[in-house]
Amino acid sequence: MKKDTGTRKEITSKWRLETQLVRGGLWRSEAGETSEAMFMTSGFSYDKAEDAAARFEGTQEGYTYSRLRNPTCAMFEEKMALIEGAEAARSTATGMAAVQTALMAIVAAGDHVVASRALFGSCRYILEQILPKFGIDITFVDSRDNANWDTAFRDNTAAVFIETPANPTLDVVDIAYVSKLAHQAGALVIVDNVFATPLLQKPLSLGADIVVYSATKHIDGQGRCLGGCILTSNEIMDEIIMPFYRNTGPNMSPFNAWVMVKSLETMALRVNQMCDNAAALADTLADTGAFEELLYPGRKDFAQHDLAMKQMTKGGSVIALHIKGGQEKAFKFLNALEIIDISNNIGDARSLITHPASTTHYSVVEKTRQELGITDGMIRLSVGLEHKDDLINDIVQAAKQAGLI
Ligand SMILES: *Cc1c(COP(=O)(O)O)cnc(C)c1O
Repeated sequence: MKKDTGTRKEITSKWRLETQLVRGGLWRSEAGETSEAMFMTSGFSYDKAEDAAARFEGTQEGYTYSRLRNPTCAMFEEKMALIEGAEAARSTATGMAAVQTALMAIVAAGDHVVASRALFGSCRYILEQILPKFGIDITFVDSRDNANWDTAFRDNTAAVFIETPANPTLDVVDIAYVSKLAHQAGALVIVDNVFATPLLQKPLSLGADIVVYSATKHIDGQGRCLGGCILTSNEIMDEIIMPFYRNTGPNMSPFNAWVMVKSLETMALRVNQMCDNAAALADTLADTGAFEELLYPGRKDFAQHDLAMKQMTKGGSVIALHIKGGQEKAFKFLNALEIIDISNNIGDARSLITHPASTTHYSVVEKTRQELGITDGMIRLSVGLEHKDDLINDIVQAAKQAGLI
């Protein structure tokens, strides 16, 4: 018999975020384990054949097969739904599985999709290369000016895909504005909320219909597991997402779900500290004059600062830097770093730095990269949990070695 410890929504939804992160979704077996159990099982057995029939019929509650639902994944999903303020959540093997599932579940041949132009490389690839193969038209919008959205919608627009702040340019999208236009056109709005995390920004409360995450980033936050999550209303989940999800199998492994559940317990502590470190680094580094341009949504000199701060409670953990001297100087700077790792992940406890044009956005055609501002001299810094002064010293010494100061 399960003990009801943290799954009654009428109680858990009233808890504050920190309590939800630690206790939300907790489901104890009869052993009374303190920490969540890992149900590493593909299937489930039934006492009687009648029970199996009833579960498949939907008249008996319970598990049938881990592609459809698994108890450890369900604990992760319940916790995610609580902190996002969503009715329903489903976990996926990766962030890209979440993006692909959400899009493919909505669109059909002959539909049109509107997307912000600045996107994570693989998100852009799905929209630009994969969906058109199935007869779906895409319009990309420069999201920095709301007027650009006004003319983007058509009668057959079925979905909008936006990422805000975007990877790696940090372009911000006005979620409320775009959602209003989308709903007038009868389209569903999907927000990739990876950079903001559920802590800083709540797209559903701003009018979006579906939120997707790469749990690989701040949610695991310690560089161990890939994962993703789709969050939405019960209606959209049951009627649109689940028929696709159930039959195509983008699921997260119970092992990864267990790691993610443990990670969520500390997410607020980690993300808050990472954002505070990033804000301190952005201010100090801007004053060194080592970089041609420094982009950080939390700084007043960021072009979309007001909108970013209207939608987010902090500026995030990622800083974009433009280095004079293109790829050669950028590589010199990266290679001279002693603490910060050259790595294309973000949201990790370790500070990580990458050169998007040759890594995360390598698959984006050159012309598009130029339009987006992903120049050969651009680098993306994901600020971690090390002491901020050690990070500043590392960056300054590397900038000196690279001849930037
Ligand atoms: C990393 C990332 C993804 C993809 O997530 P994976 O877990 O690597 O599949 C999608 N969107 C954004 C904004 C990301 O940063």
